Amino acid sequence: MNANLTFHVVVVGGGIAGLVAADSLTGQGISVAVIDKDRAFGNFVVCGEAVQKWVVEELGISGRPNLLSQEIKTISIVNKGKKISFNVVDVGFIIHKSEVIRWLIDRIVHGGGKGFSNTRFVGLDREANGGFRVKALHRGKEVTIKSDFVIAADGMASSVANALGFQKLHGVYGINSLIHSNAVPDGEIRFFVGSEFAGGYGWIFSKGNGYANLGVVGKDPEDVTAKFDTMMQNFHDVSVLSYGRKAIPHGLRGSVALDGVLFVGDAGGFVEPLSYAGIWGAVRSAQMAANSISKFYYGVLRDRKSVSRDYEKSVNSEFRKRFQLEELAVEVFEKMDNRDWNTFLDIVEDHASGKTEFNFGPFNVARMLLFDSRFRRILKGKVQNGILSIVQKIIFR
Ligand SMILES: Cc1cc2nc3c(=O)[nH]c(=O)nc-3n(C[C@H](O)[C@H](O)[C@H](O)COP(=O)(O)OP(=O)(O)OC[C@H]3O[C@@H](n4cnc5c(N)ncnc54)[C@H](O)[C@@H]3O)c2cc1C
Repeated sequence: MNANLTFHVVVVGGGIAGLVAADSLTGQGISVAVIDKDRAFGNFVVCGEAVQKWVVEELGISGRPNLLSQEIKTISIVNKGKKISFNVVDVGFIIHKSEVIRWLIDRIVHGGGKGFSNTRFVGLDREANGGFRVKALHRGKEVTIKSDFVIAADGMASSVANALGFQKLHGVYGINSLIHSNAVPDGEIRFFVGSEFAGGYGWIFSKGNGYANLGVVGKDPEDVTAKFDTMMQNFHDVSVLSYGRKAIPHGLRGSVALDGVLFVGDAGGFVEPLSYAGIWGAVRSAQMAANSISKFYYGVLRDRKSVSRDYEKSVNSEFRKRFQLEELAVEVFEKMDNRDWNTFLDIVEDHASGKTEFNFGPFNVARMLLFDSRFRRILKGKVQNGILSIVQKIIFR
């Protein structure tokens, strides 16, 4: 790596968000460098790896069995002794995320982009023309990369955000472990809910042939570790093949762009507050950021300020309302006891049984719950009536 380099865009962070943005930009002939502090791209990921079908389609990996572990065929929800299951089609997949990341970096490099691993972002200077000088440590040596734009895709503890003086994101903790157990049927994803999982839930996502991602979300490292141990009690004869803990952002950044620096993925807080699914948010925010930047090179947007505004606008329309609604659901779920959870399971069973085309989007689920008198009884005393009417306005508008 030369000490001085110039690109249209520098992407800081080579996770799924950074790579999707870089792939989209290189595909449009815009020069891109992706830097990542790790020694290799896609080395080890801590993730349940569950994604919606449309994410697989957007990534262009539908026909690549080596990148897709399992198609989701059955969804189960478990609360204590009660378990409901229903069969689904076209809902989603469990992917091989490390392989997807390696596949993306390969595409980027073949498309003319550059990927620099072992390259840690350390700072950012603004040039007189408004462009950037990104400072990084490449294998311990200082390098400077000039660019018109910076995409911050460096995860929840974003160093780019620190360099700009942005606030730190709050979050929760997640543990994921690759296990082997004969108790996990192929094609099933199972969620563990209930008051012992307050502020999160547990999951087991089949990766086929007895392999599965088993994980849990909790409010701090001790809490999540205790919940993980509780989860493990559900399984006997389990081999744990990998184990990792990572912070997950809770809530979008107030502002996701500043004069040509655009935040995507976990660095922007694009993780669903209710489910903690972040891959789709990483993919969508990366596509939107790349789209706003490409408008600059096609002459549609004139300067960095309008690119930032354009990106903020798309984020507001696609993410903010949805995340606000989920925040309210989190508040309710946290207050539910195990009896409430059993009622919740009854409602879902009534609505979903026999239907394979059930839409699991948050607006649809909220509609289903708010129309059900059993759930309205659960809500009593847990949310103020005023909030409820706002929610109804949001989803029925
Ligand atoms: C336990 C757990 C389970 C999850 N399960 C799911 C799931 O089943 N489905 C789902 O949709 N989502 C899930 N998520 C969330 C999902 O994994 C993330 O939201 C998503 O991967 C975020 O991608 P990203 O590229 O934004 O961030 P990351 O994957 O965190 O990538 C950030 C990259 O930036 C690099 N970096 C950081 N600092 C620097 C620096 N200073 N200089 C250079 N590079 C830097 C890092 O090395 C890293 O490669 C889960 C999360 C956890 C923790």
